[in-house]
Amino acid sequence: MLNLQDASLLKQQCLIDGVWCDADDGATIAVTNPATGDIIATVPRMGATETRRAIAASHAAFRLWRKETVKTRAAVLRAWHALILQHADDLALILTCEQGKSLAEAKGEIVSNAAYLEWFAEEGKRAYGDVIAPPSNDKRIVVIKQPIGVCAAITPWNFPNGMITRKAGPALAAGCAMVLKPASQTPLSALALGELALRAGVPPGVFNVVTGAAQAIGTELCHNNLVRKITFTGSTEVGAWLSREAAGTIKKLSLELGGNAPFIVFEDADIDAAVEGVLMSKYRNSGQTCVCANRIYVQDGIYDDFAARLVARVEQLKLGNGLEAGVTQGPLIDENAVRKIEQHVADALAKGGKLAIGGKRHALGGSFFEPTVVLEANSTMLVAREETFAPLAPLFRFSTEEEVIALANDTEFGLAGYFYSRDLGRVWRVAEELEVGMVGINTGMIANEMAPFGGVKHSGMGREGSHYGMDDFLDIKYLCMGGI
Ligand code: ADP
Repeated sequence: MLNLQDASLLKQQCLIDGVWCDADDGATIAVTNPATGDIIATVPRMGATETRRAIAASHAAFRLWRKETVKTRAAVLRAWHALILQHADDLALILTCEQGKSLAEAKGEIVSNAAYLEWFAEEGKRAYGDVIAPPSNDKRIVVIKQPIGVCAAITPWNFPNGMITRKAGPALAAGCAMVLKPASQTPLSALALGELALRAGVPPGVFNVVTGAAQAIGTELCHNNLVRKITFTGSTEVGAWLSREAAGTIKKLSLELGGNAPFIVFEDADIDAAVEGVLMSKYRNSGQTCVCANRIYVQDGIYDDFAARLVARVEQLKLGNGLEAGVTQGPLIDENAVRKIEQHVADALAKGGKLAIGGKRHALGGSFFEPTVVLEANSTMLVAREETFAPLAPLFRFSTEEEVIALANDTEFGLAGYFYSRDLGRVWRVAEELEVGMVGINTGMIANEMAPFGGVKHSGMGREGSHYGMDDFLDIKYLCMGGI
């Protein structure tokens, strides 16, 4: 059992219409700690019927929630934010035990993403409309913005807490209600957030959490007419599937999908800063973030120096159970994740890559994998095409700016891209040329609530955070006033 200060944050039931409940047939899913293999809890294995009930409750709640003043909604969101900060230690313990990342990273995720609630509490007040000049004097054109309705949120296991607040914040601020399906590997963080939402005064039915069979729940969320929007973070395959399923009921979609981020280090870069950027962007969460550097391009003249400095820093990373002090790297989420990095490493070595450090399962066993650096990577390798989603840094060589831009853009993905350079002209040129939604320039850390997070190409559509993030949860209504 988890040693929580507030044991009632460990919920093993779903939240529908403000009531904690089991699956109709009593079925459950076990939640496992990836660092130990221990089962830490069970949650309901719900399906279409329970999801339909949650949608109906959400729709009824939406009709009242939308009528609250923006100030009232903001106060509730701020209260939720305060409760998350107050219980951040317990929430971090829950997160680390179900996901594996270190306690420090878990707490960082919770606090920095709770900020989306605070930000959107205020931003909700600024969902301004427009008055537009009419084509004739007897008319006036007025535009208002209204909440879109019931939103379905489907979230992944890599940020079990943060992916929820960044969706719920704008949705609830706009006046929408939400049915959330969290990843089955990490449902406990979502349920704990549900408990805190109730305590904060989020009305019953405005925020519902349904755990269980992804396909059955997903199909209902897509086909049900009362759901007017789907906001999803996860793989491109599932994102495409949701788009197809939701097409029949014409829903608005926000999709934050896979990436294959290039990370370019030019000869004029501050090399130590670039090394730190790679550590942050590649090895955070053991390489399991959608904005992780996947392909690291280093210019010829500094390649060997950069590689040596990177390997020296990677040697200092400490693997272990995220609950232990000093641990920087937890286990991967499961055996499949380990198989994928093993496959990428073997493929890279077979195609001419040179192993500089790591490359195998760690002595700790389970799903622990050593932080890895492979030198002399090239575009025929799997790592050039697919997101590894694990701690493998492949270092590609390049000689010119033009060449590296072409290489960086040679992917169907377009989420994040990074580069290090101190040449102002190059900074503008490269930033404008990269086919991505977000560019980290001389930084490996880009996400925050004030900035628009999202991708282009197969990495998705819509933005989370910033004032742009509100628009995803609002409909525009045009009022044509005649007879004036
Ligand atoms: P990952 O590879 O990160 O697990 P997925 O796209 O498989 O990414 O999963 C992200 C989220 O989508 C999880 O909550 C998962 O349960 C959910 N999911 C997976 N398949 C479906 C589906 N067919 N319908 C709805 N949700 C799904």
